[in-house]
Amino acid sequence: MIKNIIFDLGNVLINFKPEQFLLRYTKDKNRITKFISNIIQSDTWLKLDRGIMSIKNARDDFISAYPEETELIKIFFDHWQEMLTPISKNMNLLKELKSNGYRLYILSNYIIEAYEYVKERYNVFSLFDGLVISGKINIIKPEREIFQFLLQKYNLNPEDSVFIDDIKQCIDQAGKLKIKTIHYLPNTDLRSELRKLEVKI
Ligand SMILES: [Mg+2]
Repeated sequence: MIKNIIFDLGNVLINFKPEQFLLRYTKDKNRITKFISNIIQSDTWLKLDRGIMSIKNARDDFISAYPEETELIKIFFDHWQEMLTPISKNMNLLKELKSNGYRLYILSNYIIEAYEYVKERYNVFSLFDGLVISGKINIIKPEREIFQFLLQKYNLNPEDSVFIDDIKQCIDQAGKLKIKTIHYLPNTDLRSELRKLEVKI
């Protein structure tokens, strides 16, 4: 029986859609694709997620590596907060789940500065019984250790737990540890997926 519901943050509870953001500043789709590959999918970005580099240092490194994109890099790193908007249809489920007796957790790759920002901005964080944020413990999903860290820290039985994430590799890793999973995509109806696992919602 499900007792624990574990949420990813990015693109499950809080939007992170860099391509939509960049489209405000350039209509050049190739340029956006390249930007995403060079910046968001870079090793430096993983260091941000892992909490071993600051946003300021990453911004400076990216400008040195891609001077031709200085302007767009500055816009991106000076306005990243604007991308972090709530996914209300999912956030609205949290109170309901909590009052139905479920314990709620966050397991997310998240840059420290961004986590501090969303925690201040959205009042749902007090509903959670526990949080594991990659930037705080220097481990990132889909590494097995971060899932084990969560299970041990909060003494969770994996078989009583469901993990919701938009990234397939993270879902697969959770499944290997016997955690039940929901692969969340933009059109997923989270309420009905939870009901399939007999969660009262
Ligand atoms: Mg995500």
